Amino acid sequence: MNLGSVRVWINCSYRKIACESCNRIVVEDLGFFQPYSRVTHRLAAYIHELCKMLTITELVKHFE
Ligand SMILES: [Zn+2]
Repeated sequence: MNLGSVRVWINCSYRKIACESCNRIVVEDLGFFQPYSRVTHRLAAYIHELCKMLTITELVKHFE
């Protein structure tokens, strides 16, 4: 995606942890993004702030 005039890629690895006592598999919390989410918390917060000033059309154009 474009962030302003800069092209940005985020490549992140996370571990899945198998719990032997309850047989559940959980994804580790890296703190800065939700597992399976396509945006970081910080980017989501940035978009949230932009939504206060821009229309959705302007917002989409900003990230094109
Ligand atoms: Zn468990």
